[in-house]
Amino acid sequence: MTTPRLIDGFSRIGEENAFAVLARAGELAGQGRDIINLGIGQPDFPTPPNIVEAAIKALRDGAHGYTPAVGIAPLREAVAADLHNRHGADVDPDSVIVVPGGKVTMFSAILMFGEPGAQILYPDPGFPIYRSMIEFTGAEPVAVPIRESNGFAFSAEETLSLITPETRLLILNSPANPTGGVTPRAEFDRLAEGLAAHPHVAILADEIYDHMTYDGEEHASLLNYPELRERLILLNGWSKTYAMTGWRLGYSVWPEQWYEAVRKLAVNCWSCVNAPAQFAALEALTGPQDSVATMMTAFDERRRYVVDALNDIDGMSCVTPRGAFYAFPNISDTGWKAKPLASALLEQGGIATIGGPDFGIHGEGYLRVSYANSLENIKRAMDRMQTFLVNHSAPG
Ligand code: PLP
Repeated sequence: MTTPRLIDGFSRIGEENAFAVLARAGELAGQGRDIINLGIGQPDFPTPPNIVEAAIKALRDGAHGYTPAVGIAPLREAVAADLHNRHGADVDPDSVIVVPGGKVTMFSAILMFGEPGAQILYPDPGFPIYRSMIEFTGAEPVAVPIRESNGFAFSAEETLSLITPETRLLILNSPANPTGGVTPRAEFDRLAEGLAAHPHVAILADEIYDHMTYDGEEHASLLNYPELRERLILLNGWSKTYAMTGWRLGYSVWPEQWYEAVRKLAVNCWSCVNAPAQFAALEALTGPQDSVATMMTAFDERRRYVVDALNDIDGMSCVTPRGAFYAFPNISDTGWKAKPLASALLEQGGIATIGGPDFGIHGEGYLRVSYANSLENIKRAMDRMQTFLVNHSAPG
């Protein structure tokens, strides 16, 4: 008997193990276990109150209907002004689209360039949805290794060497998840120069952590390479900077040649972003920015603590992350493989982290430790991790 059959893509689509770890941590906590969550990639701060109030006001004022599919005009203007203020980049508000979350831009871009026969370059270790979506489309995922020896930055030379006539899209992410790596401007300069020889390659720059760098480290935005702009898609959003992961808000900047395509995708799929959330996003960009600074000061303090603590654990070494809110310690000398260690730390040690291989094959030998938790909890977690490793050697 024949039965309805899903398209093949669904036998290849992946997911984000961070959500499974979050669910398991919740389950264990529900059983009365004290679990410290260093697994999740979201700020532990509430959305600043002025932003929440702006959404409530918008609801009271009647923002209940559809908005233009690309987002309300004042918000697109505010995005363009913000990118100009922070990066000095010229952005036309009519090249901006407001989308329901940062992920929606990568979904859209990968859908536009992925098909059987195409190759898409993506960072490994990197955000797992890149590879998942590439596989969904039937395109070939080509990993660009992100190496500890390079401070977890992209290597322009290695990236360029992987480009073939079949390469349709190159995905870049800096500051990066899961490593906290920040690619320096000089490396992007070399990449941009090399890309001139490959005009058939579109570029997706995931800059969702662009506010989050430390020690005065500069974030080099790909928007500042005019020679790339006509094939550059910029992914950004409010989730991380303004602690708004649950609001589902993002934006992207598109070259003119593909703007109609993404606008039509919006009309076909999500119509527009939740109207009051767009007013909240407008307040986030145009209102006071001190809560961002306060959050970054707290992240910086935790970053310093967590790196020192990880380096004090026998068998672990951790380069100092220069961006985002993740540390990516090398655990090779503990004798443990990363996923069994992450699982044992959760089940027996009461600490949620994510095994490096959940971010790609080059993530073996590493753990992702999110320091989006209070300093007090991070201290307890580091003590627990140390004790766990003293008392448990790697299985067999
Ligand atoms: N890009 C990167 C590198 C991320 O780490 C994340 C979230 O963790 C996203 C995009 C997606 O962000 P959003 O929650 O806005 O969809």
